[in-house]
Amino acid sequence: MIHEILRVGPLQCNCSIFGDEESREGLVVDPGDDVDQVLAVIRRHQLRIKVIVITHAHIDHIGGAQKLKQETGAPVYMNDNDAELKKMLGVQAAWLGVPEPQQVDIDVSIKDGDRVVMGAAELHVLHTPGHTQGSVSLWLPSEGKLVAGDTLFRDSVGRTDLPGGDARQILRSIHDKLLTLPPETVVIPGHGHNTTIGRERQFNPFLSL
Ligand SMILES: [Zn+2]
Repeated sequence: MIHEILRVGPLQCNCSIFGDEESREGLVVDPGDDVDQVLAVIRRHQLRIKVIVITHAHIDHIGGAQKLKQETGAPVYMNDNDAELKKMLGVQAAWLGVPEPQQVDIDVSIKDGDRVVMGAAELHVLHTPGHTQGSVSLWLPSEGKLVAGDTLFRDSVGRTDLPGGDARQILRSIHDKLLTLPPETVVIPGHGHNTTIGRERQFNPFLSL
């Protein structure tokens, strides 16, 4: 499985590009910005992007989705509970002092238990609300990887002081849905360095029981 991680935009969101070597089918998670760089990776691997997944509707994760959708023709998947937040992209842009990106229509609403098929691989959708109400994490059991959006970070958890945030709920999501995954699972957070489920279970100061 091809997997490249690009840090996009001023907040350096981790954008994942996955590709199946056999079928050349690809999938992009969180194209927040710098779509030209994302497209360059897609071209270098000769991928046909089948799906664009948004982990949650914060501007740094969704900002480039419409441009990437136009360039690739791929449908955009997101959880419905972030629909209101998505309408607030102009407000979010003002907070950051950046131009408002194009609005993107969501083609498919994903929910807990859904599976997104890409080539020979399957991504399991885990609804992990708390950072936002529509936050999802994506588990790829065949790769031993978890794309965690802004729910779980190395040594930290997502902030819950923005609209839609809930501090108790994010801890419940992490304990119930993420820490129950195999400890060797590699976690790709929405920002910063990769970690593993086992490492966070042991050392994350926000998750001590
Ligand atoms: Zn966020």
